[in-house]
Amino acid sequence: MTTNTTTTLIRNATAIMTGGDGRQGEATRLAGPDIRLRGDTIEAIGALTPRPGETTVDASDCVVYPAWVNTHHHLFQSLLKGDPGGLNASLTPWLAATPYRFRALFDERRFRLAARIGLIELARSGCASVADHNYLYYPDMPFDSSGILFEEADRLGLRFVLLRGGATRTRQLEAELPSALRPESFDHYLADIERLAARYHDDSARAMQRVAVAPTTVLYSISPQEMRESAALARRLGLRLHSHLSETVSYQDSARAMHGMSPVAFCGENDWLGPDVWYAHLVKLDADEIALLGETRTGLAHCPQSNGRLGSGICPVTELAAAGVPVSIGVDGAASNEAADMISEVHMTWLAQRARVGMVAQPAYRGGQFEGGAHAASVEEVIHWGTAGGANVLGLGEVGRIAPGYSADLAIYKLDDPRYFGLHDPAIGPVASGGRPSLKALFSAGQRIVTDDALPDVDLAEIAHEARAAVKAMLDQVQG
Ligand code: ZN
Repeated sequence: MTTNTTTTLIRNATAIMTGGDGRQGEATRLAGPDIRLRGDTIEAIGALTPRPGETTVDASDCVVYPAWVNTHHHLFQSLLKGDPGGLNASLTPWLAATPYRFRALFDERRFRLAARIGLIELARSGCASVADHNYLYYPDMPFDSSGILFEEADRLGLRFVLLRGGATRTRQLEAELPSALRPESFDHYLADIERLAARYHDDSARAMQRVAVAPTTVLYSISPQEMRESAALARRLGLRLHSHLSETVSYQDSARAMHGMSPVAFCGENDWLGPDVWYAHLVKLDADEIALLGETRTGLAHCPQSNGRLGSGICPVTELAAAGVPVSIGVDGAASNEAADMISEVHMTWLAQRARVGMVAQPAYRGGQFEGGAHAASVEEVIHWGTAGGANVLGLGEVGRIAPGYSADLAIYKLDDPRYFGLHDPAIGPVASGGRPSLKALFSAGQRIVTDDALPDVDLAEIAHEARAAVKAMLDQVQG
């Protein structure tokens, strides 16, 4: 453990990206070239003189980013990648084919292994804060999935926010499966949230453990009255609210058929909009929904790779941001995103927003005003969404920026792959070029938890072997 008096000097960085949004004069880049950490805090940035006995990290030819903040994941899906049964299916049939077909097969050992794989993948991409939307809960389950997630993240030195999923109703898509899990009672759901909040939730601006109230999908998992009661409990306990919303057109059709209104209006009717709420996806939205999300400052976890993989569409991130919606980025579960790391996700974010805007370009003879969408999202904006933007939706006010006084969460990338050679502006490499930049160091709350791509006490060959064995055993079970 670091102490308050221990300092580390990161020296000679080629570039430093701050994670800032560029508003009110906030710099998005700093010249550095040095950053001093004291204990778990960033102390100073500039041309700094090494002190006797100080630990130094040579960041020559490296670019330094705030560690990424992933705001939406389902870690248990890390053993469900590329299932042929769901590979070419859209959301609802994919849910039935893959996560809901397999999730009853997760015992404690498989669940822990899946969590470990997902967390290691994230850490090696430079992510130090993970919010996991866990929905593996059922009455009398023989292991504590929440506790395992906190343990595994703590073991690696990662900040962890449990988005406590769950359902009090069985969705139609699951009811027809032999492996259907029984839903929880609402009383049990609320009682477990109180238990988890008392045990893990820390209100502080750089908390390492937090809990949010996150029924799996507000439209289908719980009743409107339960939405209002869960929101009231969350607000009484000081917890944030999270769920899936408007991932595909079926949300629009269902909300209209069930409640006679749009999904976002439905959430507003049931106390589920506001600055303490963020939703994953928000792909399919009408203009009045974008305005309502913006007015209420309801947040977004943008998951473009999952939305692409499932053919759901592309979220109008730039319109949402312009309306005032706090934007963050999540990798979503690995059963619908076979690259659940933050570098792939931010690379996709950058490209997809530009492509989406370009898609609506029209020729001048049809009244078109512009040719393409390259103006849609800058690298700096994408970095902001993936770092300080993520901390913002999680309510972590001293996380996600490289600035004095912030939590010492930094990713130091060495751009030593040919993919990055020839860059005129190396600072943009990890986002614009994508790939997997070498991670020279990842600091999480001042602790160096990754060195030269390696995590201490993690044997990747052994984990790969266990993953293959677990996949084979689960396939034997579902086919047997
Ligand atoms: Zn999800």
